[in-house]
Order: sequence, then structure tokens, then C-alpha cells
Amino acid sequence: MTTMQFKPGMQEQLIVFTDSPDAGDPGCFCSYCVEMIEEDDTPLRLFIPRSAQHPGGAEYRLHFSCASQVCEWKSAARFTEGRKVEGNNG
Ligand SMILES: [Zn+2]
Repeated sequence: MTTMQFKPGMQEQLIVFTDSPDAGDPGCFCSYCVEMIEEDDTPLRLFIPRSAQHPGGAEYRLHFSCASQVCEWKSAARFTEGRKVEGNNG
């Protein structure tokens, strides 16, 4: 199981959306780079609980690639590169 958190100072830079269009919708922008999110992308949606400020709830939407700029994942599992060990017969 992984948990995700914003990198320091990043959350303040993100645009909060109170709508939630599907990827590929002309109104579906990224909270970080403000570019449209294409239909074949898989945006990361971070839902913000309802509050006085956002009575209908809200969300951050991020391109999958932008999410790695904005967030960091804490995971017990270590990601290992599929590095091929070359034969080294002196
Ligand atoms: Zn983006």
C-alpha cells in the first residue's frame, strides 16, 4: 500500500477545481501545468473534503506525469529498475 503526500509548498500552487470532468473533456485541466488532460491520460484526482470554502467538494487533477512533480509516494515496497547485469567474465 502506498501513501501519497504533496511535496513541501506544492499544494499551495495547485488550482482547485470544483467540477470533475472526464479526461478528454475540454474543461479538464491539470491543477499543476494547466494544460488539458487528454483522454488517453490517466489523471490523478485528489478529492478535497466538503468544507465551508468548498461546500460541494473539490478536487485537484494532475497529469500522471505532473503528479510525480507535485507529490511523493511513500511506499514500503522499493521500486527497482529492471537493470540487466551484464556478464563480466574478466
Ligand atoms: Zn499537468
